[in-house]
Order: sequence, then C-alpha cells, then structure tokens
Amino acid sequence: MQYTDPDFGTVTITVNPRARSIIMRPEVDGLRVTAFRGANLSFVKQTIDKFRTKLIAKQAALKERPQLTEDDIEKLRKDAKLLLPRRVAELAYMHGFNYTALRIQPSKTRWGSCSGRNSINLSLYLMKVPEHLQDYVILHELCHTIHHDHSPKFWALMDKVTDGKAKALRAELRRYNP
Ligand SMILES: [Zn+2]
Repeated sequence: MQYTDPDFGTVTITVNPRARSIIMRPEVDGLRVTAFRGANLSFVKQTIDKFRTKLIAKQAALKERPQLTEDDIEKLRKDAKLLLPRRVAELAYMHGFNYTALRIQPSKTRWGSCSGRNSINLSLYLMKVPEHLQDYVILHELCHTIHHDHSPKFWALMDKVTDGKAKALRAELRRYNP
C-alpha cells in the first residue's frame, strides 16, 4: 500500500513474510518500507516516526548525490558484464561452490540474490563499490547456494571464505546504496 508523507513523499509499504523487523529505505522521491506479516499500519507509522529524523537526513543525502545518466548506467552495465561473470567463476572455483546461472540486472533494491535453484543475480550497480565489497556480495550469494538463509551456519561459512571478516564487510557495504 502507499500513502503520502509530508517529509518523505510517497511511502510504499510491502509485506515480506521473511522480514523480522520493519525495514525502511529512503529514496530520492519517497520511502520504501518492508514490513513483516501482521504488522499493522499504526505500528509501521510509529516505527517510521521513531527514526524520522535519521531517515530525513538519509533522504537529503541521497538527493544531493548526482543522479546517473542513461550513458553512465550503460557504461556500468558494460563493465559489469565484462568483469562480474569472471569474478564469480573465480571465487566459485577457489572455494568450491557451484551455481547454475548468473544474471546481471539493474536492481536498485538489492546487490544480489540467489534463487532456490542456485541461480545468482547481481546488480550492475555493484560496479560502483570497491572490489573487496564486490567480492563480499559475490561470496554472500555463493554461500547461499549451500545455505538458503541467513542462519548461523550461513554466517559461519561466510566467515570461512572471508577470513572472519563477514560482518565487518557487511557493515562497510551498508555505507553504499545500489
Ligand atoms: Zn543473503
């Protein structure tokens, strides 16, 4: 559902049965909210109010960022198609992972995902983050070919393939937006 908020513009709320908290992501023209199943609207609005000041600041920072042109995006797509398939293959080989397919998409909502059939999707906007964080995202999706969740077993495997730096790399990646 959607409603208009005087600070953010359009607030779009989607329900994700797998969400365990209310996730709020400011965008240039609105606020995207992911809620867990059963969260009612007044609870969602209360949660937004609790973080309102921070969210306003985040949205303001986004508005200041120069927007990418079509040409910029085309260049990122070219680079992504040239570099990412090779890197995924290398990391999979190094750590013994198997995946069935790799797709590069203009995803602005997530850096990557891994399907139940171990097909990996990566956002072409990964080209905007440093290489060690690209590797983090690729390894994250490759680890999902073994554990399709974010269980302790998943994070233990992540730590194994990142020299114990999984959570630190995740924190570093949070400074970027796709
Ligand atoms: Zn994941």
